[in-house]
Amino acid sequence: MKIPFTALSSARVRYTFDDVPVPVRKEDFKLQGSVKFSCVLQKKSESGIAMQGVVQATLLLCCDRCLTAYPYKVHSDMRLIYEVHYGEHGQVKDADLPVQGLNVVELSEPVIDIEEAVRQQLYIALPIQRLCMQNCRGLCPGCGSNLNNNPCSCKEDPQDSPFAVLGTLKKN
Ligand SMILES: [Zn+2]
Ligand SMILES: [Zn+2]
Repeated sequence: MKIPFTALSSARVRYTFDDVPVPVRKEDFKLQGSVKFSCVLQKKSESGIAMQGVVQATLLLCCDRCLTAYPYKVHSDMRLIYEVHYGEHGQVKDADLPVQGLNVVELSEPVIDIEEAVRQQLYIALPIQRLCMQNCRGLCPGCGSNLNNNPCSCKEDPQDSPFAVLGTLKKN
């Protein structure tokens, strides 16, 4: 899914993708269902293209507290300027200062890679803290059971747990 600058003009053109095959590392997150992407592309100059897009996807994240996978909906807007920079020998030139308030993406060739754009936007949309719910109770430090599903008995007296004994041994 690559769009060459030559396919674009000063008129705004909308592209819609119902299923972008985004390459993600499965340690980071998994995708649930398809990733949808819609964008408007417009040529601003011979070497510059403006993009306004919306990414919609459902990610499967792992909760930081209870380690359970949970769905996380992404509906993320993006605004970018793509600029091609040719150096003296066709090398990529050093990046110029970005235009204020806009993300400038430097390209070495005049082609927009849709999968890469969407992939980056998904990573930007990730929450800092991954929680299956605001008040997730996490795992019991005593027996390791998920406290959202089954309140365990060691909660009242943590010393009863075989794991608590290990804790005391460590301290001595
Ligand atoms: Zn949780
Ligand atoms: Zn417990």
